[in-house]
Parts: sequence; C-alpha cells; structure tokens
Amino acid sequence: MRWRKPKDDSSEEFFSRKRAAMVEEQLAARRIRDQRLLTVMGDLPRHRFVPPELASRAYEDGPLPIGEGQTISQPYIVAEMTEALRLVGDEKVLEIGTGSGYQTAILCRMSAEVVTVERLESLSRAAQAILASLGIDNVRFRVGDGTLGSPEDAPFDRVIVTAAAPDVPEPVFAQMREGGIMVIPIGGRWEQDLVSVRKEKGEPRREYLGGCRFVPLLGERGFPA
Ligand code: SAH
Repeated sequence: MRWRKPKDDSSEEFFSRKRAAMVEEQLAARRIRDQRLLTVMGDLPRHRFVPPELASRAYEDGPLPIGEGQTISQPYIVAEMTEALRLVGDEKVLEIGTGSGYQTAILCRMSAEVVTVERLESLSRAAQAILASLGIDNVRFRVGDGTLGSPEDAPFDRVIVTAAAPDVPEPVFAQMREGGIMVIPIGGRWEQDLVSVRKEKGEPRREYLGGCRFVPLLGERGFPA
C-alpha cells in the first residue's frame, strides 16, 4: 500500500514507516536473514546519525555524507557486514571507523561489548553523543589509528573494518581470538572486495562476499594519509 507523505517530515511516525520499508525492501528482500539484525535495524533511528538537513533521506538505498569527507554506509552494506560477523550476543567486538556511529550502535545491540576506533575526533565526539542519548553504554570510543587495532582492549572475538584497506592489517589480525571473524573491504582506494577473514589455527582463511566501495582506511597499515 502507498502512503502519503505527512506534512511534518520530522515526525517519528514518518521515520518509522520509512524504516519499516527499508527493512522490507532493502534488507529482507535481498536475503538478509538474521532476525535479530532485522529487528535492531527496524528499531534504530538512522535519521539521527546523519546531518539534520539529510534526515529525510536517511532511509534511502545508499550512503550519505556525514561531514569531513566521510560517509554513513548504505543500509544494505551495514546489514551484509553485520550478518557476516555471525553475532550471537556474547562477543567482544572491535570496530575500525566509527564514522556516524550507526554501525557501532547496531553492534552494541547485538553483542556484549564494543570498542570503536575513529581517526577523526569530531566524528567520534558526535557519535558518542548520539549513542549516549540512545542509552547505549556497552561501548568504548577510541580516537587514533585503527590500523594498529586497540592493544589495550584486545583480544577480540570479532572485528569489523568500515573503511577500505589495502590488505588485512597485521596488528589487528593478531588481536583477534582463535576462531574469530574479521569483515573488511580489501582492494584499491576506489574499489574493493568485501572479505570475511576467519582465524583458524592462527592463520587467516578468506571468504569473498562481493564487490563494494568504501572511503579509504588511512594509517600506518592502511593507505597513506
Ligand atoms: N560505519 C561508519 C562508516 C564510516 S566511513 C558509518 O556507517 O557511519 C569510515 C570511517 O573510517 C571514517 O569516519 C574515517 O574517518 C574512518 N577511518 C579511516 N581511517 C581510519 C583509521 N586508520 N582508524 C580509524 N578510523 C579510520
């Protein structure tokens, strides 16, 4: 059924309808199966994670600018990466590239504990404010070069890298537990493959999930800043 656009674009009712359509048409219809994930994404106010002037476009099928030349990832990509982490709820997760904090919030609702690293302090601060306002407190924010991981918080059960890397950053792989899974876009600055890397007997076992396009991971074990 079609519905008319309400006069007041900012109403929560408007956003919650958009959100339900996003889950149905962009996620469920494209074979996102993790029921907990669909519930979390159907509940989380994505419009609060984008600049106010873009709020009405927050549930569109694509990435959006969040300032500092960075982007909030397309909903489908967020879902695909999160599903590939195979979270059951008791994990400690490392996220590299906090950005808007949208992916961070999803991870917080689906795992026990999240550590998120962002190189740009302004983005980290904005994300901290939004997560606090949502009552999310199972998270630690770090500002710095995520290509080095977060040694003081290691080891991790899962790692998600939300920026494009030239390869698996060795220090980050080392901070992952045996049996752990890292989801990371690997390739050039403009095009990458989404890869799931499982740690088996200390060695990386890669599974390719498909093509993708992310902003570059800049740092010591990433692309030169
Ligand atoms: N998950 C985020 C994606 C943000 S884009 C979202 O959906 O909003 C990727 C982010 O990675 C950017 O904010 C960028 O500043 C950050 N980034 C790039 N290189 C980094 C590094 N070496 N360490 C930490 N963050 C990095």
